[in-house]
Amino acid sequence: MSSPCLAILNQVFGYPAFRGQQADIVEHVAAGGDCLVLMPTGGGKSLCYQIPAIARKQAGQGTAIVVSPLIALMQDQVAALTEAGVRAAYLNSSLDAGQASDVIRALRAGDLDLLYVAPERLTTPRFLELLEDIRIGLFAIDEAHCVSEWGHDFRPEYMQLSVLHERFPYVPRIALTATADALTREEIVRRLRLDAARVFIDSFDRPNIRYRIVEKDNARAQLLDFVRAEHCTAQGNDAGIVYCLSRRKVEETAAWLASQGLRALGYHGGMDAATRLKHQQQFQQEEGIVMVATIAFGMGIDKPDVRFVAHLDLPKSVEGYYQETGRAGRDGLPANAWMAYGLADVVQQRRMIDESQADEAHKRVASGKLDALLGLCETASCRRVRLLSYFGEKSEPCGNCDTCLNPPATWDGTREAQMALSCVYRVAQASGIHFGAGHLIDILRGNANERVKQHGHDTLTTFGIGKDLPEPEWRAVFRQLVAFGLLTVDHSGHGSLMLTAESRAVLKGERRLIMRRHTTRAKSRSSSTGP
Ligand code: ADP
Ligand code: ZN
Repeated sequence: MSSPCLAILNQVFGYPAFRGQQADIVEHVAAGGDCLVLMPTGGGKSLCYQIPAIARKQAGQGTAIVVSPLIALMQDQVAALTEAGVRAAYLNSSLDAGQASDVIRALRAGDLDLLYVAPERLTTPRFLELLEDIRIGLFAIDEAHCVSEWGHDFRPEYMQLSVLHERFPYVPRIALTATADALTREEIVRRLRLDAARVFIDSFDRPNIRYRIVEKDNARAQLLDFVRAEHCTAQGNDAGIVYCLSRRKVEETAAWLASQGLRALGYHGGMDAATRLKHQQQFQQEEGIVMVATIAFGMGIDKPDVRFVAHLDLPKSVEGYYQETGRAGRDGLPANAWMAYGLADVVQQRRMIDESQADEAHKRVASGKLDALLGLCETASCRRVRLLSYFGEKSEPCGNCDTCLNPPATWDGTREAQMALSCVYRVAQASGIHFGAGHLIDILRGNANERVKQHGHDTLTTFGIGKDLPEPEWRAVFRQLVAFGLLTVDHSGHGSLMLTAESRAVLKGERRLIMRRHTTRAKSRSSSTGP
């Protein structure tokens, strides 16, 4: 390829060659084509629009407008481009009026190769009028999945971006994202009017990340064991991120890890901006910090040597899991994605969907996404195969995930599933209400405690029928039944379980259930006091 694009790659960015599909993408866009680019984090998305932007500007086609949702990201990109001698600027709320009008003057004078803008600024009538006065070479829409209502990064302003096609139909557009399953992809195309765009999908595999999902019993202690065993050495500790669902849990976990001698900081949306920024900078600049955070900590962190990402709570979807774990090992060196998961997580996520204000259609989508994630958690075969197939990619067992390295034992749990489901049925029939897994297991195991006796559940035909199976194994059975949609959580808010339409086939013996065996945790050095 002897095009101006390669020359720009060599001379401006100092790289000898394009990676993966970059060459095809930049040629397509430089020639005026629309496209949607799906490339994992660290794959090199920025050059896909920066190079055609420079090429088109050199050819007299005007400035490229880049839509980006994050101020920090814009600043980093503009700093790097300026350093390389590219004329780039940004417009966002961090500029004062004087600085903003300098940028606009440069834009009008045709002195900018690239202008980064926040979506809320771009879609104002005033800014759109300004754009009509100048020559525009390209629109690049970064983090395009923000247009998806179903995703957790939804930005309402992204919805307005269809205006770009309506008002500037002749300007080529490139939309980029690191995360989009088939549904999100379809939504991006529809909302951004990219029907005629070419779609470039790069492999989503991150071979250096080792995936592991463990059964939760004492999550904090399990986390500490994992970090101490694999990320603390005499030379120092590794940097990592620990994701929790709630702000309170972030603070408690950070404090607890600190009390155990790790350098742990917290980060969540309820903290004041100054503390958040300070923690983020410490994490970025200092060695060996464990950042305990909600998903508010994420988009835009650019630390290549994060050695592990741990989840103490279940993400909402496979996309969320992929995106969060994807922050590990961006330098390509080995990294761990570790998650602890148990029945309570499934119950909690199901309940959150149930109790949300969303309409039925949204709830169905959210619930389908959760099911896919639970499938990943419960799979007895390669996690990576499962993860990649969610993004439409076929692959072979990877040899670098927990299920490849230590294949879990499976067993035919059909009979036990029938016992559990009929117990749920009998209890509801006898008492008119539903109960949680703990109580149901007491009944199955013939444990005639106060509560069981008080409800007369020691007289049920299912009382004691499962005494041969130990309690933890029963927990694993219930967890899998909920994960497979064979039991669901009722509206009481107590995690009470009830049958679903699917349960019947199991009860009638029409469906066999292969389950994962419960795995016991190796005795830990830190017999700690976590929840
Ligand atoms: P993404 O936005 O997809 O997460 P970036 O655009 O930030 O990824 O690129 C990740 C890293 O890879 C950057 O440091 C970038 O300079 C580097 N990179 C991208 N393309 C190439 C290339 N063709 N040759 C060498 N390095 C590249
Ligand atoms: Zn594997």
